[in-house]
Amino acid sequence: MIKAPETAAPPRKRLFVTLMGVTCLIVVAVIFLAWWIPNRGLANIHPNLPHLVGIIMVVLSGMAILGTGLLVLTTALGKDIFLTRFMRLVVIKFLLPVIEFVGRLLGLDKDRIRQSFIAMNNSLVMSQRMKVKPDRILVLLPHCIQLSDCEIKVTGDINKCVHCGRCSIMGLVAIGRKYSVDISVATGGTLARKVIVEKRPKLVLAVACERDLTSGIKDCYPLPVIGILNERPFGPCFNTVVDVSKIDEALGQVLQMDELP
Ligand code: SF4
Repeated sequence: MIKAPETAAPPRKRLFVTLMGVTCLIVVAVIFLAWWIPNRGLANIHPNLPHLVGIIMVVLSGMAILGTGLLVLTTALGKDIFLTRFMRLVVIKFLLPVIEFVGRLLGLDKDRIRQSFIAMNNSLVMSQRMKVKPDRILVLLPHCIQLSDCEIKVTGDINKCVHCGRCSIMGLVAIGRKYSVDISVATGGTLARKVIVEKRPKLVLAVACERDLTSGIKDCYPLPVIGILNERPFGPCFNTVVDVSKIDEALGQVLQMDELP
């Protein structure tokens, strides 16, 4: 059986949190400049206008700083403190593009930023402490997780696997049976979207590379997605591997307890 390299480091939120802090400072600096530069011009319109605009800018800066603090605290404590669902929206739709831009300016590797984003997203999803019935959870796998020369076609029905143990599918079938959750293999983003529309899950647990997980998490919002990175010992999209215990662990945290075996 193909095994994941043991040196693979777990993705961390730290980079995303650091970039969030940098972005927050940039936003506050831009807000300050937006007030300071036209300050004199505003005074010509009305003497109190610079103060009024100044107060608005201070409130906006405060919101940016408080929002960043709340986000860091939520993921650090793993608790839904306040507006976690809304924060997920802000992170996915607004913060990620800005952070990717800041990361590019700083010359950081795209995949490292994406790994960090996925870890941050997972942390926010987990902090909502959802408990979902097995039939409302969908595990989505990429086609490349199946051994390329396996003659059995598991796309459509993973249970066709005959458990030879040469790829991760065998362990995943066992997980699917253990928890009675639906596991689908998708050959691309379009098929993955089709499966989600058909099965209407309340939570998706997706296995993929950094790029596909990032775009999947973005496309699926507001549907919560927990992303688990695959390992690519033979390069991208070929005989990839997933650590089945990570899926087991994630399912254990989100499944409704009375439904567990
Ligand atoms: S474990 Fe299943 S899917 Fe993987 S190579 Fe063997 S029979 Fe094929």
